[in-house]
Amino acid sequence: MTIKAYGARSSDRPLESMDITRRAPGAHDVQIDIAYCGVCHSDLHQVRAEWGGTLYPCVPGHEIVGRVSSVGQDVSGFKPGDLVGIGCIVDSCRHCADCGEGLENYCDHMVGTYNSPTTEAPGHTLGGYAQQIVVHERYVLRIRHPEAQLAAVAPLLCAGITTYSPLRHWKVGPGHKVGVVGIGGLGHMGIKLAHAMGAHVIALTTSESKREAALALGADEVVVTRHAAEMAAHATSFDFILNTVAAPHDLDPFLQLLRRDGTMTLVGAPATPHPALQVFSFIMKRRSLAGSMIGGIPETQEMLDFCAAHGIVADIEMIRADEIEAAYARMLNGDVKYRFVIDNATLAA
Ligand code: NAP
Ligand code: ZN
Ligand code: ZN
Repeated sequence: MTIKAYGARSSDRPLESMDITRRAPGAHDVQIDIAYCGVCHSDLHQVRAEWGGTLYPCVPGHEIVGRVSSVGQDVSGFKPGDLVGIGCIVDSCRHCADCGEGLENYCDHMVGTYNSPTTEAPGHTLGGYAQQIVVHERYVLRIRHPEAQLAAVAPLLCAGITTYSPLRHWKVGPGHKVGVVGIGGLGHMGIKLAHAMGAHVIALTTSESKREAALALGADEVVVTRHAAEMAAHATSFDFILNTVAAPHDLDPFLQLLRRDGTMTLVGAPATPHPALQVFSFIMKRRSLAGSMIGGIPETQEMLDFCAAHGIVADIEMIRADEIEAAYARMLNGDVKYRFVIDNATLAA
């Protein structure tokens, strides 16, 4: 089937309207009419080939929500009309240890929602800046939020799970002092989720203008990281820090905020390395630096259900498909509160 999508034909050309094809649903496939798709900073990194290895045409988008339009004959868990989501994963090997534990995100054969090689035209996966998608039922998530919140649920499929998974893995909860560095799409979800898990949350931002807004998102305190005195007031006091910053920056000042045995986990994925680190930032207080990539399918469902139960959605600004380039420019300037979401109905225009 041929549908409308928005994508780029090379790294130096703007996104444009294009026709793409999707497979007819197989026995275990779910076909989804996409209502909305969030705009993740990873979309921008990929479409501009900042990480290398981008396959063109590139249709980004892995924060997908919509309604099931048809299902294959062997699908039992979903039916036409259901509200569903697709995140960053559309397939994996299904038999390795990682897949067995529901950690498909760490499977060596994980198939990303876009930019992963496949046997179907054009030879790689195409993402959610499109009218429809067809995905094996194992990778389809159920949405239990009210339909009126559907657009604001979209960012949970990447920004939500990418922050939820490390907060759970490092057992964040009541009595913990938790920092979230970088208050963008991921960071604003990190604040909401850590707050809902009962932690004492401190937003760490370069933007003076986000001070009040971070409190409204659920932060207990805000530190503007440019102000050395504000940073010093929190030295050696955090149990856990989630770093979502999309650009290289000096990590040492953040490591020095950790108390003994504290951990900072990197989820931000800049195209070039962070500056070299001081070994003393680690050995003085037995501190750890870690990383985390999205989350598995069962944990993504757990996160969606947690958010539905706690009334959590993203703070979004809706855009038309022809505004994606302008949205990217604003995202690079840190000018988004806090996630752009595409109204996929505008793809047909
Ligand atoms: P975003 O909305 O652009 O937010 C990034 C935030 O980082 C900005 O709002 C800004 O917050 C802060 N920042 C500070 N200095 C910056 C600079 N020089 N350039 C850009 N940002 C700066 O991005 P996002 O969608 O949250 O994604 C954040 C990063 O996580 C990206 O690198 C993305 O590729 C990556 N990511 C990783 C995973 C994973 O699985 N690990 C999943 C999704 C995304 P303040 O104004 O508060 O300082
Ligand atoms: Zn993403
Ligand atoms: Zn696997």
